[in-house]
Amino acid sequence: MTKRVVLIGHPVSHSLSAAMQQAAFDKAGIDARYELWDRAPIELPTAIAEVRGESFLGANVTIPHKERVVPLIDKLTEEAQATGAVNTLTREGRRLVGHNTDVPGFVVALDKLVGRQKMPRQAVVLGAGGGSRAVVYGLIRAGFQRVVIFNRHLHRAEGLVKHFGRSAAHMDLKAMPWHDSIIESEIAKTKVLINATSIGLNEDVSPIPGEVLTGDLLVLDLIYSRTRLLRDAESAGAVALDGETMLLHQGAAAYALWTGQAAPLEVMQDALAGARAQGVRSAEGEPAGDAVVGLGEAASPAS
Ligand code: NDP
Repeated sequence: MTKRVVLIGHPVSHSLSAAMQQAAFDKAGIDARYELWDRAPIELPTAIAEVRGESFLGANVTIPHKERVVPLIDKLTEEAQATGAVNTLTREGRRLVGHNTDVPGFVVALDKLVGRQKMPRQAVVLGAGGGSRAVVYGLIRAGFQRVVIFNRHLHRAEGLVKHFGRSAAHMDLKAMPWHDSIIESEIAKTKVLINATSIGLNEDVSPIPGEVLTGDLLVLDLIYSRTRLLRDAESAGAVALDGETMLLHQGAAAYALWTGQAAPLEVMQDALAGARAQGVRSAEGEPAGDAVVGLGEAASPAS
């Protein structure tokens, strides 16, 4: 029987995840099909009930359901519990286990960003949504001592700090209001800058003025294209990395959970590149649909 894995989101019209997961199943000779399920929030409980069926290896969950799905499943891993968000489901009989593979995906990206340098201890994070939760938890686990979160709606950043209160009790985790001058002064004191907002996803704009970037920064943008922020960072002489590494490794971690096998990373990376070349831009953590497709060209390496 062909096994099924589904991506549950709203909307989910095109998906980089589908391309990379299907390529991985095919390469490994696993008889499985990765399907896209566009389900509105009201349909989520029914979708989750269906995934409990025997034909399913599991699922991915994406915007806007990552947090909403938590009360519908039976068991959470430590990362899912700590972040309060689930992006991957596995099945134990009819019980569902919720995982957050954005966290290990981010940790691989952070290691790649830092390279051979000593792991820094200070970071500035822009954004306080679902992606930011995985980032902040990854930074706490990586031993960061000071992390400052800026968000357009300050209360959301404050909520995130409160959420991590206990796991961050030993460190300085702060929410600050979004003002260019405050961001600039915090960036001057830090080594790692992470964009976890969607600014730059649909338009070729940066969340912060290019002038505040300096050559000794390590800059990660969760968006998987060469955004204006990353281009500005490179112009300033900083190290810049886009979100593809995180996307690839969250997918690889999910694949390993579903199949019990190590993910064929090269095959998945090639499939990602192939899908991107065909204009597919949406995946876990990224709004999908017509509004997105085609809008990223200005930020693509070809520009
Ligand atoms: P959410 O919708 O949960 O959060 C969006 C964030 O962007 C919020 O902090 C929001 O601020 C901010 N934002 C959006 N528009 C603006 C604006 N015009 N001005 C200021 N702030 C703005 O999304 P996610 O956290 O899931 O995703 C955020 C980004 O990270 C997306 O681009 C997504 O593609 C990427 N991502 C990449 C992953 C990867 O594997 N590479 C994994 C997860 C996410 P506010 O709260 O004030 O609205």
